[in-house]
Amino acid sequence: MKVVKNISEIQRICLDYKRAGKIIGLVPTMGYLHEGHLSLVREAKKRCDTVIVSIFVNPIQFGKGEDYDIYPRDLGRDIELLTEEKADILFAPSVREMYPEGYSTFVEVEGEITSKMCGASRPGHFRGVTTVVSKLFNICLPDYAFFGQKDAQQVTIIEKMARELNFPIEIVRVPIVREEDGLAMSSRNVYLAPEERREALVLYQSLQHALKLIKSGERDVPRIKREMEEMIKSRPRAEIDYIEIVRAEDLAYIDKIEGRVLVALAVRIGKTRLIDNLLVEV
Ligand code: AMP
Repeated sequence: MKVVKNISEIQRICLDYKRAGKIIGLVPTMGYLHEGHLSLVREAKKRCDTVIVSIFVNPIQFGKGEDYDIYPRDLGRDIELLTEEKADILFAPSVREMYPEGYSTFVEVEGEITSKMCGASRPGHFRGVTTVVSKLFNICLPDYAFFGQKDAQQVTIIEKMARELNFPIEIVRVPIVREEDGLAMSSRNVYLAPEERREALVLYQSLQHALKLIKSGERDVPRIKREMEEMIKSRPRAEIDYIEIVRAEDLAYIDKIEGRVLVALAVRIGKTRLIDNLLVEV
């Protein structure tokens, strides 16, 4: 696997690939890779001739007081994992390479889709995400870009951005990869102390409870949210950031379960903010 840190170099390589008619797949990540990330790489390998994985801890998507400085990083291990998966190129630019002195161009999807849920507790987060993803699209010229359903709001926003800015790129959603006990894999899970790790399971458990209620015919959104809330509040280290049940397509608020629905939540376990979600269709 080739490791590239320089934008002009990777852009030249990608232009050559495109001229040769190769299908390029891009997997954007912040590194500290786990099976969730690797499932995106495997999906990309299936569909594309060339798979580029980017690793970039994007400072502009972190708010003040968030975990940018302590975000886990291990490029050596990531390179080993990606080599095993036969990724073709790792693009790992520096912050200065992506945002040189004086940088001032941003891409923002406006409206409720970005201001609610994770957008409400992390102002500016999605602006940072859509900006870096737009840059990566222009740098790597992918035909397909792969994103995890784990970050359901993020991928919905990116799909809207790609559509509205006419990026000729197909956005592929990859299902959530979980630990054996159900906890969604996340680079941030390393922050959890053993007791917190046990309590973190409540995110998955509350989603499963919502699924059971919906399957048994419950359609009332406030009632389902209330039951999830009670379950989470019973864990002493858990503090709810949000629980939302929205239309999957555009994340619009709903009162009744109907069609494709996203049940999504963010919960702080101690100091660690975790997210998870579930897609249901009735
Ligand atoms: P991150 O490095 O956390 O920014 O994630 C990079 C990509 O991997 C994003 O598209 C995430 O949605 C995806 N991802 C992270 N965790 C998982 C998971 N457990 N299952 C599937 N995809 C994931």
